Amino acid sequence: MSMTHDPPKAAVPALDFGAAWTYAPAPEATDHVKIKPRHELFIDGSWQAPRSGRYFDSISPSSEAKLTEVAEASEADVDAAVSAARRAYEQVWSRMKPLERGKYIYRIARRIQEKARELAVAESLDGGKPIKESRDVDIPLAAAHFFYYAGWADKLDHAFPGSNPRPLGVAGQVIPWNFPLLMAAWKIAPALACGNTVVLKPAETTPLTALMLAEIFREVDLPPGVVNIITGAGATGAALVRHPGVDKVAFTGSTAVGKQIQKSLAGSRKKLTLELGGKAANIVFADAPIDQAIEGIIGGIFFNQGHVCCAGSRLLVEESVHDLVVRKLKDRMATLRLGDPLDKNTDVGAINSRMQLEKIRELVAAGEQEGAERFSAPCPLPPRGFWFPPTIFTNVSLSHRIAREEIFGPVLSILTFRTPEEALEKANNTFYGLSAGIWTDKGAKLFWMANRLRAGVVWGNTYNKFDPTSPFGGYKESGFGREGGKAGLLPYLEVNG
Ligand code: NAP
Ligand code: MG
Repeated sequence: MSMTHDPPKAAVPALDFGAAWTYAPAPEATDHVKIKPRHELFIDGSWQAPRSGRYFDSISPSSEAKLTEVAEASEADVDAAVSAARRAYEQVWSRMKPLERGKYIYRIARRIQEKARELAVAESLDGGKPIKESRDVDIPLAAAHFFYYAGWADKLDHAFPGSNPRPLGVAGQVIPWNFPLLMAAWKIAPALACGNTVVLKPAETTPLTALMLAEIFREVDLPPGVVNIITGAGATGAALVRHPGVDKVAFTGSTAVGKQIQKSLAGSRKKLTLELGGKAANIVFADAPIDQAIEGIIGGIFFNQGHVCCAGSRLLVEESVHDLVVRKLKDRMATLRLGDPLDKNTDVGAINSRMQLEKIRELVAAGEQEGAERFSAPCPLPPRGFWFPPTIFTNVSLSHRIAREEIFGPVLSILTFRTPEEALEKANNTFYGLSAGIWTDKGAKLFWMANRLRAGVVWGNTYNKFDPTSPFGGYKESGFGREGGKAGLLPYLEVNG
């Protein structure tokens, strides 16, 4: 018996992509950001101490360090803010020439641009999102929203010809913590352009940039009372939406709270728009540009820690490319950088709060218990703060909680399909309907799917792209009403039918 032996191979070191792509730390400077140790309520153009005398802390979720303390608005404060907004509406804002209103909104946009760096740092400190995101997405888009709606202020008759568009009065607006300044811009800009005045409540964990926006209102001499910013938790939001002096309620947040608000307003004359949760499907066909799709999937769920209502949290992948896509996703996940939100190289920042982290952990544990297979990026987690590694689940079925419930964290559930009809049926099999993504080489397939998906926004061969000119909003339990674009004016107007 003879045996042949291959000559011994030269030892090839395994490629360690993690090490190959490690950059030196590049933290954004913070010395240009002055955060006051205490923030009062912004009512009637000035800073007012809360009538309750109570304050709460806003911390940085990446270090758990206290950033500032913030006033807690009681019912009496809400009442003062709504009264100030009513006076400003009747005496100043609704009487002002629309062109002049537009100039104020334009000045707000310019000032946001001038203070962009400071706002971006504050956003990343207070909410934990990477500076790349706040600097390149949140703050420029917030400015763009004010610019866009400044342009509409004197053209409402052209937007809705022959229908005599009129403002509603005082808008009470409540926003969540995932895009604090951007959500404030989405709410305030169209309200002002249509001639309404505003009382806005930011989320408890991320009040900082809304308070900096209040300072901007002072700097541009916005007449007192036109926008009031009141901080507090859920009780403050509830007091605002049920205040009888509010004509219009605009809410962005969870479906559970949205339903409560809708119930509490039933039978009232108040107009309501709700932007709620989502469980978007990102659908990848075998003919898709796979590497491009991988970037879209990764960005759509892991950047911003999955704290995005339209995050592509369900991946539907055609069966024939499932293994390839999963392998490429794992390779790419190994190169994601998680850590200091202020580092310009960071891809994945901190989870916004301990409560949110616990919610993510609970749903991930449920995914494991229900038999799905978990893979988490092998990145070390910082010792302090709230962190969760980018995670994917394979072997997921539609009945699993991780396929149905909004996780609002960096967790992707992967399902497969064989035909476009099956993809469609699975994508639409959800209570939500905020957004979806389609990846394919075939335009006809893309449009066929887009027309049948029950989702407010459908992206084709891209994901999470925003523009103030295009409307955004949901189907089903993702809410109703549109923000952005010409459609975003309507919730703030009375028009003749
Ligand atoms: P949330 O608990 O519903 O809170 C949203 C806002 O409502 C916060 O300012 C909150 O105050 C306030 N609030 C809480 N209870 C209230 C009540 N009974 N009445 C009035 N206001 C009340 O939502 P979240 O957990 O902060 O935000 C995440 C959710 O928002 C996710 O479900 C996400 O999908 C959704 N979201 C949707 C969109 C969209 O455009 N569709 C955009 C972003 C986020 P505190 O925070 O101070 O408790
Ligand atoms: Mg905070």
